[in-house]
Amino acid sequence: MPLSNLAGGRLTIDLEALAANWRFLAGLAPGAETGAVVKGDGYGIGIEEAAKALARAGCKTFFVALPQEGLRVRKSLPDAAIYVLNGLLPGAAATYAAASLRPALASWPEIEEWAGSGGAAEKPGAAIHVDTGMNRLGLSLGEAAALAGRPALMAALAPSLVMSHLACPDTLEHPMNRRQLALFGEVRSGFPNLPASLASSSAIFLGPDYHFDLTRPGVALYGAGVPAEHASSIRTVATAEARVLAVREANAGETVGYGAGETLKRPTRIAILGAGYADGYHRRAGSGNGAPGARVRIRERLAPIVGRVSMDLIAVDVTDIPPAARGDWAELFGPNVPVDEVARHAGTIGYELLTGLGQRYARRYVGGE
Ligand SMILES: *Cc1c(COP(=O)(O)O)cnc(C)c1O
Repeated sequence: MPLSNLAGGRLTIDLEALAANWRFLAGLAPGAETGAVVKGDGYGIGIEEAAKALARAGCKTFFVALPQEGLRVRKSLPDAAIYVLNGLLPGAAATYAAASLRPALASWPEIEEWAGSGGAAEKPGAAIHVDTGMNRLGLSLGEAAALAGRPALMAALAPSLVMSHLACPDTLEHPMNRRQLALFGEVRSGFPNLPASLASSSAIFLGPDYHFDLTRPGVALYGAGVPAEHASSIRTVATAEARVLAVREANAGETVGYGAGETLKRPTRIAILGAGYADGYHRRAGSGNGAPGARVRIRERLAPIVGRVSMDLIAVDVTDIPPAARGDWAELFGPNVPVDEVARHAGTIGYELLTGLGQRYARRYVGGE
């Protein structure tokens, strides 16, 4: 019996769509190399599958958050350049070097530890990560200037990139964008021989000023977080569906689900789906106390959630979809129900839905090799 017959949900991952999205983003920044961020298990779709499909599309430089992710990419891609965005973890320099992982050095202790571990000739490269306004990871502007003034220390790091990260690239007119761009320009002038990287997905859409030598798209590759004017150029990569387990009739005035938070206004047919928040479908995407929930798609029609999302179950109103029946598949998000829209209902962003998909879906990869 196929796995999908034993699971409440199935996940279809379109690797050709992933490759097409990478090519589209590469086309928007023709003067730069286009890398790919595959952290968070490839934004939930599977880090090895994502990395291999992107490499087939032409990607040569990958960004992960952690060295454990870097090792997984390295196994799949012996020749790729791999940067570890969370930097050099304490005591791990030899492991990075052995697997040719490049830390994004983000603090003075990391700089010293990396410089002091092994000779420059054995170093695989590293990014100098400078903070220009996030107050997250990165050297301060003063530290970056101090580093730029110490050629022997720089040589010991064997750096291959200077990078920073924008705080507000998804807001086109946000003044932080220009401010960080100007600061990054100054930082970069201290490292004239290093390629530079500033742009995540949204910053690619901000235009060529932001592209520099290497872009670092993540979420847009996976079909989420894309501004409306580009949405039609980005393809859906992940489609999550849940099985209709049962259909029931309920009377007006009755309530549905935990907390009895949703009172039915009409006689209602309710389909019960076999997925829930344990599958990363956020509890807050449900309805209650007058606020509408997200919608799913069954038999080519949209059906709103009624009541709270449970751990393993979701109730949806199929009164207006009479043929809906046990065994149907309901699209939780995918080509017809944008992941960002479900995320909005849950008060979050598509990134969080994708990276929180959970382990229970029957996964199917299509469009590879
Ligand atoms: C996650 C991340 C990215 C990718 O961001 P998206 O918004 O997913 O494109 C790029 N750079 C850094 C430093 C990141 O942490």
